[in-house]
Amino acid sequence: MIEVTLLGTGSPIPDPDRAGPSTLIRAGGQTFLVDCGRGVLQRLAAAGSGANQLTALLLTHLHSDHIADLGDVIITRWVTTFTPDPVPLQIIGPPGTAQVVDAMLAAFGHDIGYRIAHHADLTAPPAVQVHEYTDGEVWALDGVRVLAAPTDHRPVAPTIGFRVEHAGASVVLAGDTVPCQTLDALTAGAGALVHTAIRHDLVEAVGLQRIRDICDYHSTVQQAADTAARAGVGILILTHYVPSPAPGQYDEWRALAAGIFDRQIELGDDLHRVQVHPGVGVRPAG
Ligand SMILES: [Zn+2]
Ligand SMILES: [Zn+2]
Repeated sequence: MIEVTLLGTGSPIPDPDRAGPSTLIRAGGQTFLVDCGRGVLQRLAAAGSGANQLTALLLTHLHSDHIADLGDVIITRWVTTFTPDPVPLQIIGPPGTAQVVDAMLAAFGHDIGYRIAHHADLTAPPAVQVHEYTDGEVWALDGVRVLAAPTDHRPVAPTIGFRVEHAGASVVLAGDTVPCQTLDALTAGAGALVHTAIRHDLVEAVGLQRIRDICDYHSTVQQAADTAARAGVGILILTHYVPSPAPGQYDEWRALAAGIFDRQIELGDDLHRVQVHPGVGVRPAG
């Protein structure tokens, strides 16, 4: 079984009730944080985990809303790991990730210096290992496998989606993308698809062009549902809502997806949790 927890269902627009984009994946005793938007560590604590318990951080792309709390994840893991030889935080992301991580460590350079000077048992800066990929297998350990594939969020590039597999269960994390063949291939037959969803009908009505621009490179609810249907997934999990659904509005969002995808549809508040069991997805013919 793979457990999916929507840690942050928000977007770049600050919302009092939604943290920034982030999803927690638990599989085979391993804990993967996918993206790290604002407030992620508070939500991670609420989900019963913490930065010092992460197996790896997976980044779909380097948009600010998806990496807003990267520094917090790195520093907090460092100061809350009490074992002498800490396991480096594994960070897997698209090309550019190493540069961002280096810049983040530089930004916290003063902090890192203060803490090393103050604590006798902190003798080295945060241990991190960055791995950059655009596709292929990015993780394989103790029966848990993670694959990546390019997505289409242009002009933001490169961007990647992930597929986590464990003991016959599988979950795809699409990130921000418009429908594309590489995402279809990554998603084929998966148990669940976690997909960003934008209500173009509502966003297009906003009078500000900069807001309307977000429709260019994000899938609508219907497009996410269409990708899920084409791939034969068992569960469509929508997140990263724009605009944020008002109380009581989830049914309206669900209905837009249900017109296209007739299997299980999940959406909800931060900390919404979904269990994905083996054999949930259907590998489509052909
Ligand atoms: Zn984005
Ligand atoms: Zn985003």
